Amino acid sequence: MTANRDNTIDIQLTASPEAEGKAVSGVAPDATSQALPGAASAAPRKNIFDLDRTQLEDFFEGVLGEKRYRAHQVMKWIHHRYVTDFDGMTDLGKALRAKLHEHAEVRAPIVLTEKPSVDGTHKWLIGMDPKNAIEAVFIPEKGRGTLCVSSQVGCALNCSFCSTGTQGFNRNLTTAEIIGQVWVVARHLGNMPHQRRRLTNVVMMGMGEPLMNFDNVVRAMSIMRDDLGYGLANKRVTLSTAGMVPMIDKLGELSDVSLAVSLHAANGELRTELVPLNKKYPIAQLMAACERYVMRKPRSSITFEYTLMRGVNDQPEHARQLARLMKQFDNATQMKDAAKVNLIPFNPFPGTRYERSDEEDIRAFQQLLQQARVLTTVRRTRGDDIDAACGQLKGQVMDRTRRQATFRKMLAEQGAGEAGV
Ligand code: SAH
Repeated sequence: MTANRDNTIDIQLTASPEAEGKAVSGVAPDATSQALPGAASAAPRKNIFDLDRTQLEDFFEGVLGEKRYRAHQVMKWIHHRYVTDFDGMTDLGKALRAKLHEHAEVRAPIVLTEKPSVDGTHKWLIGMDPKNAIEAVFIPEKGRGTLCVSSQVGCALNCSFCSTGTQGFNRNLTTAEIIGQVWVVARHLGNMPHQRRRLTNVVMMGMGEPLMNFDNVVRAMSIMRDDLGYGLANKRVTLSTAGMVPMIDKLGELSDVSLAVSLHAANGELRTELVPLNKKYPIAQLMAACERYVMRKPRSSITFEYTLMRGVNDQPEHARQLARLMKQFDNATQMKDAAKVNLIPFNPFPGTRYERSDEEDIRAFQQLLQQARVLTTVRRTRGDDIDAACGQLKGQVMDRTRRQATFRKMLAEQGAGEAGV
């Protein structure tokens, strides 16, 4: 990467030794030699990564004049065998391949760097266009492998404890850019749906607010759950939201993925300080939307995420407020354990005014909830050494808000220099 006079950074869309982390290796030539994302082309060709099964079938029928089932062959080549060059799709006839070349392309995002952590976590910096990059993280655990996917370049929300928030916002990711993250990681793992399952879960918990990029996120999640895509069960795809109330309802109508809600405080005043979106959609409205979501499906549940910050929201009174809210939720839905709590010890980043809660306080907080019979887990931090933990994903954002500049200025005043931005 090179620094410009205006303090922005140009991303080189090729693996570069100067780029931080391990330079890219093992990237198939078909992925690296493609036109740069966003490059102008004479006759725009459809990027097949942008289409879910129905759309691709429509494309085959409507644009190519082919049988709909041919679309299935192409999906399998791309998502199961990681072939992006039509000429490598050997069960397609020559004439069809020629038509595909003319009207379509399979344009994967470009991996800029990747970094393995000592604990097995792996982080990718993926270029989305010449000025922007996002991060995706894979977390292997016993019996499962979870990929944390980004939905936007930066984030338009401004949660006070989130590192992505300090970078401001540039744009929504396309469906291709979202599913492309899954493709990059699945290929790295040699994942084969139903045979060699390395990728078992996807969480939309990377950069961005997924419900502010609704259509592209829902379409990408449909490819994740499709047998011709990544074959993940509905409950193994989780969308995490800061609380976009109307979109929670819309999601319930169209999809039945697992829902996680970033609560972080059970009283309105404190929540507004941490998650400013609370001003627009206060807790009562949020909980009502969550009730509607969970009531659609018997035996389902919602995970409420609660990041624990020392002296801010980690005291016994906060735990009691949270327990009360969770019990109200179970009662309103008349379902046992409809609410689950996931406590996340705060992950610090340069310039933040918050600190991680003490172990003792985390344990006491969890105990209080458990005594109130609220199912509570603690998310243990992974990928700490490579800044891959929750809220630490940064990427490279050409900010369209003034937030990044303001944060840099604040850091400079604190004498923290450019670190962490
Ligand atoms: N916009 C979505 C996804 C964000 S990231 C949402 O708000 O849910 C996923 C989770 O990590 C959220 O619960 C978020 O609040 C939490 N998080 C953000 N910054 C964090 C930090 N520094 N430490 C711990 N958790 C953090």
